[in-house]
Amino acid sequence: MLKSFKHKVHKIEEIHEHIMEAFEIICQARSNSKFNTNKFSSELRYLMELEKQNDTDLLMTPLKTIYDYVKSDKAVKQILKEGIINNNKIEQLCNDSSVDPVLYKELPEPLAKVLKSFFNNLYENFLNRAHVKEKYLGLKNHYDSLIINSDLQVCPFCGINDLQSQYDDGRDAYDHYLPKGTFPFSSINFNNLFPMCYECNSKHKLEKSMIYDDLRGSDKTKRRKAFYPFTNSTAYVDIKFETNRAESFPADLKKMVPKNLTITLSGADNEKVESWDRTFRISKRYKAKSCQFLKVWLETLLEEYRRSAQMLKGKYGIEINWDDFLDTQLSISQNELFKDKNLIRVALFKMLRDECDLKNHLQTWSNTHYS
Ligand SMILES: [Zn+2]
Repeated sequence: MLKSFKHKVHKIEEIHEHIMEAFEIICQARSNSKFNTNKFSSELRYLMELEKQNDTDLLMTPLKTIYDYVKSDKAVKQILKEGIINNNKIEQLCNDSSVDPVLYKELPEPLAKVLKSFFNNLYENFLNRAHVKEKYLGLKNHYDSLIINSDLQVCPFCGINDLQSQYDDGRDAYDHYLPKGTFPFSSINFNNLFPMCYECNSKHKLEKSMIYDDLRGSDKTKRRKAFYPFTNSTAYVDIKFETNRAESFPADLKKMVPKNLTITLSGADNEKVESWDRTFRISKRYKAKSCQFLKVWLETLLEEYRRSAQMLKGKYGIEINWDDFLDTQLSISQNELFKDKNLIRVALFKMLRDECDLKNHLQTWSNTHYS
């Protein structure tokens, strides 16, 4: 990914902690014991009492069902214990392929079903209860505070689409980085929830598990590393376009199509870069966007050149130099990579400059248009 989020403690994170504490207690249940909420935190007991007033009880009823299911099964209690610990180590799961999470498919089916429904409901319904929103400030508040604290205007996963801000009524969706349909215990872990643009979230990431080779987790033995979105180190990726030598490049640059391009994405950890690229189909999207916007970008550059040429000549009597002009334009855009798809534009124009005689094309068009 291209930028990282900056974590800031938020009230809403406490709910996850209360629920995990409850599961730790459930995993210690004795086979002859009865479900008793007395060992749960007073805060969770309070939430349970309020929750009972709803038509569907999303806390006590499913927790009791889970308790009764697991209390006499030592092996299941052991797996759940591992899941509570490992599935919540989001950073380690991204950085260290030896940490082994527990997947729903490893649990007995009836238990997996009730657990999945419980955790899905926590995220989709429980967090939206009016009293929960009031006390824990709600998802929109968390979203705004995360975006502001991280100083993000653009989706850090693609670097090209805007994110909704605190000035919008709504917000972009949270992505469950480790999908909530695959991994128990992570649906309301806010180290696993990241705002993402619509295109990244709903068209590309979907239910993919970036930490597995096949992205679906069907083969658990093949782990791979992934960017951790709260990473402290810069998640910088170098983007380099080249002409695809297997295809003849069009004489008119504006007729460039995706197959004319090859793209290289590289970074400090190429395994992470690769899982990011595969998950979000970055290379394909960047090539498509390059071709979509090239004509507009060239026209804008030409217009900018014309205005600069006029101004320099009129004011100082200086003839503009195409090489200097291009270098200046690229270095300005380089400093604003997350503005107006500059991320792609700069890499593309460097290629056009170095491989496709951009200067000559622009000179010819300039003479045609403005002479
Ligand atoms: Zn995006």
